[in-house]
Amino acid sequence: MALSNTAAAPAVRPRKPRGEGQWAVGHREPLNPNERIKKDDNPLNVRARIENIYAHTGFAGIDPQDLRGRFRWWGLYTQRKAGIDGGRTAVLEPHELEDEFFMLRVRIDGGALNLAQLRTIAEISTEFARGTADITDRQNIQLHWIRVEDMPEIWRRLEAVGLQTTEACGDCPRIVLGSPVAGVSTEEVVDPTPAIDTIVERYIGDPRYSNLPRKFKTSISWLADTPHEVNDIALLGVVHPQYGPGFDLWVGGGLSTNPRLAERLGVWVPLDEIPDVWEGVVGIFRDYGYRRLRNRARLKFLLADWGVAKFREVLEKEYLGRALIDGPPPVLPEKPIDHIGVHKQRDGRNYVGAAPVVGRSSGTQLSRLADLVARHGSDRVRLTPYQKLLVLDIADDQVEPLVEGLRRIGLEARPSAWRRGTMACTGIEYCKLAIVETKARGEELVARLEERLRDFDVDISIHINGCPNACARTQVADIGLKGQLVMNARGEQVEGFQVHLGGGLGMAQGQTAGFGRKLRGLKATADELPEYVERIARHYLAGRTAGE
Ligand code: SF4
Repeated sequence: MALSNTAAAPAVRPRKPRGEGQWAVGHREPLNPNERIKKDDNPLNVRARIENIYAHTGFAGIDPQDLRGRFRWWGLYTQRKAGIDGGRTAVLEPHELEDEFFMLRVRIDGGALNLAQLRTIAEISTEFARGTADITDRQNIQLHWIRVEDMPEIWRRLEAVGLQTTEACGDCPRIVLGSPVAGVSTEEVVDPTPAIDTIVERYIGDPRYSNLPRKFKTSISWLADTPHEVNDIALLGVVHPQYGPGFDLWVGGGLSTNPRLAERLGVWVPLDEIPDVWEGVVGIFRDYGYRRLRNRARLKFLLADWGVAKFREVLEKEYLGRALIDGPPPVLPEKPIDHIGVHKQRDGRNYVGAAPVVGRSSGTQLSRLADLVARHGSDRVRLTPYQKLLVLDIADDQVEPLVEGLRRIGLEARPSAWRRGTMACTGIEYCKLAIVETKARGEELVARLEERLRDFDVDISIHINGCPNACARTQVADIGLKGQLVMNARGEQVEGFQVHLGGGLGMAQGQTAGFGRKLRGLKATADELPEYVERIARHYLAGRTAGE
């Protein structure tokens, strides 16, 4: 039957746009279970229940909504039960995946530790965490095997030396990344540490900002030595031709399954205005951020829809009540700065950057490190966003003895390119979301490559991730590895990786930051990973041009 062109079409009612769950446009009723948990009780309140109830009842007495929801606001995640393979990660219920122990994240804003703090973490690791201590790529230290019964004593010890676990995880402002050489670098013009301290003092643990749509990541550094483009907010040093030194504001970065690099708002922020501007941006996120779907709840989705012009306008008009000053872009370095090795400080002393392997440390190693650092006349250690650490304030004649001492405790100040550039997330050993093993694979990979290609003379970054969540920044490495199940040559499903090649961050003009290419079919089983990386490296060496 032919249809007449003139037949009246059925009336199409314009579809009402579906709300994104933004508080600022009236969506106050929770639209998913995570939002419900936060609305029912501010997650910060769970601290009192842990101390007064759960520390006495033990694991079995914990309310599931606290256990898998609010505990995170105090740095506590349930730990993956040993022996559950990655193929079952997606099919088991949360309670089937977890054991009765916790991962505890200690928040170390700016990565700055004094020796009393370092010793305290080492003691807690030894006494309460079976000796575990991993340095993360967000300058935290993570401990495992923590029992809820021990949390009151752990908090007492941490807080006695000025450390905290407040909002180390959860939908709230996480640790503030900072330059590991803030205050000592010869290249730094303004040390932003006072701004970081003010933000932490004023806003961390503040109930006004403890219910955000998702996590909120911050980086504040004069130098481009933190991965600023992958944070929700970043401030990076820049000299304004008229107003002098200040900070360039970036917003909306984040990796995970929908990666997006942060964008410049084109404004110049003086040091003393950073906390207010930070509060404005976090306020926008709280009020306008999307709360309907968790996989669209990061700030990057709002920025993608609004664009930078609208974001800046809302920030200025609704949150700051004034216009911001236009600013120039910062000068970015030729290549990422990781501070490994021996470097001069502005006061003439030295800092020494050293590498554990894939961030894995231990209570014993941290305790020995504290002794060593004290013996060589320093009181300061810094953690880096590359899972490495620095010892500051070393006199010239103490440098080589310190380097040797570090080597003896398993920290290498002159590491191979492989050890220097390889990072790994927590992975299947402890993480409930993981599909594959990461830390042990990383250690094995570094050892094999050091054996086979010891003199590889090129900076290379290899980031090993246990699942698509990209906690170790899959997409911005030379070789980014995303854990997944793959087929081996016998057609069996085994642990392996999707490979992303050629990502990078913090590059100077002409080498702009970008994501690695994920090529179809570019996969390796975990067992063949060392050979696979070796092949890529040899191929590169064979084909590189003079001077490359
Ligand atoms: Fe866990 Fe996945 Fe993050 Fe690794 S990337 S720590 S496996 S969530």
